[in-house]
Amino acid sequence: MSAPINPRADLAALPAYVPGRSVPGAIKLASNEVPGGPLPSVADAISHALQEVNRYPDMGSQALTARLADELKVPESRIAIGCGSVSLCQQLVQAMCAPGEEVLYAWRSFEAYPIVTQVGNATSIKVPLDGTHTHDLAAMLAAITPKTRLIFVCNPNNPTGTAVRRRELASFLDAVPSDVLVVLDEAYREFVTDEEIPDGLEFVADRPNVAVLRTFSKAYGLAGLRVGYAVGHEDVVTALRKVYVAFSVNTLAQTAAIASLGAKDELLTRCSRIVEERGRVRTALIEAGFEVPETHANFVWLPLGERTVAFAEHALDRKVVVRPFAGDGVRVTVSTPDENDLFLEAARAFER
Ligand code: PMP
Repeated sequence: MSAPINPRADLAALPAYVPGRSVPGAIKLASNEVPGGPLPSVADAISHALQEVNRYPDMGSQALTARLADELKVPESRIAIGCGSVSLCQQLVQAMCAPGEEVLYAWRSFEAYPIVTQVGNATSIKVPLDGTHTHDLAAMLAAITPKTRLIFVCNPNNPTGTAVRRRELASFLDAVPSDVLVVLDEAYREFVTDEEIPDGLEFVADRPNVAVLRTFSKAYGLAGLRVGYAVGHEDVVTALRKVYVAFSVNTLAQTAAIASLGAKDELLTRCSRIVEERGRVRTALIEAGFEVPETHANFVWLPLGERTVAFAEHALDRKVVVRPFAGDGVRVTVSTPDENDLFLEAARAFER
């Protein structure tokens, strides 16, 4: 008799990453993507790069790293490119944590954090958001133990859209032990307009224990190509590069990211239209009687508790796919005026 194959026993309890659903005939407001395909300049760059896909990609994403270094005014040695920032989240756990060491984050937050932590054999410490659906930084500080190695601060927070301000974040960083890495996950940074919400890069230069994560998936519209980056201390970046899955950032992704940086102004104008719509959608929802926390990202959060799944099903009946987090709330991507109107119609018709 052959011996059974036994994958790691703890993986049976690994929470599943549930992606936003695509339903034929319905509009998808479930994954915080931006509407609209690539700009012509980006599409052109991608089709040129297609000619090279018989070759392996540049393993070190050197041209993209150089372009970002120029853009962000940081040395190349402080930038790590990853196959989406979710991959960098996983690499951060692998780079920082020995088995059983702790990764601290607010909850609810980005649903990949518990997964990458467990995959990395580390232990999740989840600190509840406060009553305004915002990071409770005081409680997070109090939850730090000698085993804490990594803290994710998702700013703005996915899925609630709330954000921590410069002053609170600075005092938090002052109080975190210097051997604990604080990762400011800024996947939605380009949608922030409030000047009190800091650009995490402000903290990276003089704090070796702070890193910033960004992505080309959201504002830059390249979710399907998978490319993101981390900016941090050289030692952290070196470690991230060591745990990088070889060649995982493909040629098309590298090329498209560079072309998108070249079209930055146009892409950011598209974001500003979404920001305008965000205000309109939130106001309309509040007028319809929903609680909607102030949001700084390209989505709104409806803390519907036990009515969450019913709301998502009701929206789907009206051909709008939203993202339910059962028992907690619904996250809805802000999109074009027409798509937002369809969603608002569905929301107004929801009986509570
Ligand atoms: N961080 C946050 C907060 C996110 O919401 C997401 C995407 N949902 C990511 C990271 C990962 O994005 P990507 O892997 O597409 O770069």
